[in-house]
Amino acid sequence: MKFQALLYALSDLFFPRNCIQCGEAVESSCYQYICSACSDQLTLCLPPNCNTCGYPFLGDWVIGKSCPHCTDLDPYFNKGYTLFLSKGVGRQLIHSLKYSNGRFLLKDLKTIIKQLPHLEKIFQNSVLVPVPLHPTKLRERGFNQSLQFANLIHELFKEDTKIAQILTRKKYTQSQTTLSKEKRENNVKNAFELTPKIKLDFNKKYILLDDVFTTGHTLNECSKVLKQSGIQSIELLSIGHG
Ligand SMILES: [Zn+2]
Ligand SMILES: [Zn+2]
Repeated sequence: MKFQALLYALSDLFFPRNCIQCGEAVESSCYQYICSACSDQLTLCLPPNCNTCGYPFLGDWVIGKSCPHCTDLDPYFNKGYTLFLSKGVGRQLIHSLKYSNGRFLLKDLKTIIKQLPHLEKIFQNSVLVPVPLHPTKLRERGFNQSLQFANLIHELFKEDTKIAQILTRKKYTQSQTTLSKEKRENNVKNAFELTPKIKLDFNKKYILLDDVFTTGHTLNECSKVLKQSGIQSIELLSIGHG
């Protein structure tokens, strides 16, 4: 047994890992903090997906350009992807990442990404742009979950990617989660700007990263800023959809 594996085995003995959703001890699961019963409830967003938000076309849905979740959106970006549906254990996973400094969950996020091979090609020659938090919110929370996500993607796709924090959130906005669809759009309107004195590479694809795609307005506002600065190739990837 390798030293690190031995350490993990020992730490499991003294600190049993519990499932973030049901609280049971996690045994024989491909995840560290999601038990195998709960992991069956996690819907990964494998193709075919909606072009705009990455929602998987399940069952009888007609495969088209976009789905009912993003019909209101007039996207400034070219394509959108997402890792899993933000419901049940998926919602809990995002919640823990966002509010409980879920660094311990990053390994499970990596396991999820490895199960989505269609994402590999999207990172080629790309610049990863995490959606920024307002400086006040960053101070309150202590970390930006979108930047953590960007670091994780960069760790997995080192040669292809680089991270650039080229956006600034100039407006302190209310949390989108409590707002109606219409109010969400207004809430984030003109909330972002390009960070001063940054360099852009117009030969690269820019991929915006955020924790969750709900109505897409936050990510679309960020895309608008990139588009207006002359970037042509813009895609987005959210951790969860819902
Ligand atoms: Zn569980
Ligand atoms: Zn969609």
